[in-house]
Amino acid sequence: MGFEQFGIVSFTATTKTEKFVDLLKEGKVCGTICKSCGAKFFPPRSDCNVCLSDEMEWFDIPGSGDLITFTQAMYAPAGFEKDVPYILGVAQFADGAKVFGRLDKSISYENIKPGMKVKLKVVDLENDRLSYVLTAA
Ligand SMILES: [Zn+2]
Repeated sequence: MGFEQFGIVSFTATTKTEKFVDLLKEGKVCGTICKSCGAKFFPPRSDCNVCLSDEMEWFDIPGSGDLITFTQAMYAPAGFEKDVPYILGVAQFADGAKVFGRLDKSISYENIKPGMKVKLKVVDLENDRLSYVLTAA
């Protein structure tokens, strides 16, 4: 998955979006796990691209993970144009889930290091939209 694919717009193609948002409202950031082969997906998918099963269930991303890589984005997908620049990162969580997302704006670019501990936080966007960020754990 490329960094350029991040955003709510591209999320909707492969995601059971409504349930994902309901879980965000509860303060939970969740992925899906395949009941058949155990593959984990984030962003959540409604079918498994490993074994092609459509038997998926939700799982909570565990507490904290390690930031693997990050980049500063100077452009944004539709709807996010005024947010640039912002920082995108990928974090590896304990149970194998890899999470792709923005880093919390409270962390300055100079302080972000690969390997730093991060956790997920649900954030309110404008227009009653919810999203999540990776923030310092
Ligand atoms: Zn599967």
